[in-house]
Amino acid sequence: MDLNFQNTENAFAYKSDKDLKDARFLFSSMSKAWLVRLGVWATPKALKWNLPVKGLIRKTIFKQFVGGETLKQTTSVADHLAKFNVQIILDYGVEGGQGEDKYDHSREEFIRVINFASGQPNIPFMSIKVTGMARFGLLERIHELSNYNDVVKGVLNTDGLTTEEKEEWQRVCDRMLAICKTAVEKKVGVMIDAEDSWIQHPVDALTTQMMMQFNKENPVVYNTAQLYRHDRLQYIKDVNEFAKASGFVCAFKLVRGAYMEKERARAAEKGYPSPINPDKAATDREFNDAVRYCVDPANNMYTLVGSHNEESNRLAAELIDKYGLPHNTDRVYFSQLYGMSDNITFNLAKAGYNSTKYLPFGPINDVIPYLMRRAEENSSLGGQTGRELNLIREEIKRRGI
Ligand SMILES: Cc1cc2nc3c(=O)[nH]c(=O)nc-3n(C[C@H](O)[C@H](O)[C@H](O)COP(=O)(O)OP(=O)(O)OC[C@H]3O[C@@H](n4cnc5c(N)ncnc54)[C@H](O)[C@@H]3O)c2cc1C
Repeated sequence: MDLNFQNTENAFAYKSDKDLKDARFLFSSMSKAWLVRLGVWATPKALKWNLPVKGLIRKTIFKQFVGGETLKQTTSVADHLAKFNVQIILDYGVEGGQGEDKYDHSREEFIRVINFASGQPNIPFMSIKVTGMARFGLLERIHELSNYNDVVKGVLNTDGLTTEEKEEWQRVCDRMLAICKTAVEKKVGVMIDAEDSWIQHPVDALTTQMMMQFNKENPVVYNTAQLYRHDRLQYIKDVNEFAKASGFVCAFKLVRGAYMEKERARAAEKGYPSPINPDKAATDREFNDAVRYCVDPANNMYTLVGSHNEESNRLAAELIDKYGLPHNTDRVYFSQLYGMSDNITFNLAKAGYNSTKYLPFGPINDVIPYLMRRAEENSSLGGQTGRELNLIREEIKRRGI
């Protein structure tokens, strides 16, 4: 079957006429930069002052991008998408908040998500952020003390830490261990998000340790590589070589990376070379080369292509065919954020590929930072909104509604 990402009938089959018109209203509102700026400024304040805005948020941006306020509410989205052969990656958004109690709470929440996902037929993975379970300053300190070659092997240098800091780090490792143990028992995969480059050493090393322990035959734990970084393709290769030598399977989620401006600004401010590729074309090249490396069966990798880029998704799909793998090979998954790039997700699903949506959930107050990021990302001129809006309009025209 030919992959046609312009097929809007498949892309929006899961949306009723009303949902489609609501989406048109939302995306055309988000195309107005001034409105988004105002919304991003006013919404958190309105919530803080308890103004009655939750109903409006729930019916508009929340409905488009979030699976529900509770875990249980995500079931109806998961069940609905299952009818279209699309699976779910549950994303419990822990953003902000510090302290050991908060980190322990996050661990319990992640475990609760795993237990829930294991009882659902359509939720093969969940995602976690290490910053939800560890103090940022501690991660930063361990990053500074450690070096690339050790990190590839899952080794960190904690010699320079105080006794208290060492104990604090041990608690972070214990939280991660508890989560991954539950994930193995319950047969749910865990995707570890990538965040800022200056805390990535401890995140990477801990993830490699988990892969060593739990990815014996099947991949349970996936690390994330941000290909806007010029060193990440080499990193994937180095970890994979180490995995082959040590007898575990290496699994990576591939993304371009979400924090480019922040990365560049910090590098300029502190006077070190930017870790980010010089331009978009270079990032695209790195990403697509990573796709080529990870899908090639000779490299024995497991991968998830996390992207809204049509070319990169098409490339991965074509490689699956080229290597004669079944479309639903467990070696390659695809994923887009819920509410975005349905033309990619649903057309891949229709063609039988392992197609998934990243589905965040949580109380409105907690997911506001996530929603504000979606609004900002979708308001950039000529960016995602233009594409989304055109596709929605085309489908409305096709349905004659
Ligand atoms: C399922 C899923 C999971 C994700 N998980 C993570 C995660 O764990 N960590 C994370 O950081 N992000 C994550 N993201 C976000 C992701 O990194 C991207 O920000 C987003 O998907 C846009 O990239 P793209 O490939 O979809 O699309 P495109 O529109 O093709 O690419 C946009 C991206 O290209 C890069 N870029 C743009 N301009 C330049 C430039 N001038 N120079 C160099 N590079 C440039 C940036 O990374 C930008 O985000 C995830 C996304 C998805 C869909």
